Amino acid sequence: MNSIERKKAKPRLVQLLDETKYFKCTVCGIGKIQRGYRFRHQQYVPKYVPPILEPVCRKCVYRECFGSKNYKKEMKEGSLDGEI
Ligand SMILES: [Zn+2]
Repeated sequence: MNSIERKKAKPRLVQLLDETKYFKCTVCGIGKIQRGYRFRHQQYVPKYVPPILEPVCRKCVYRECFGSKNYKKEMKEGSLDGEI
């Protein structure tokens, strides 16, 4: 990706949904009662905008953002909470 394409590329999206309710996570498929997230990976390839996933559970959002090695630490710190 060149620098112009990088500027137009979509950044990562993490949005906490308003409601606490029962839902099935679109990533892990497990049913949970919590506030879900709307999530989209950062765009890496110019012609491919990753799909928006919704609802995604908290664990999956952190795992997608930080990788399976680091997400537990980030979850404890709540580093995505409140991000829009
Ligand atoms: Zn999940």
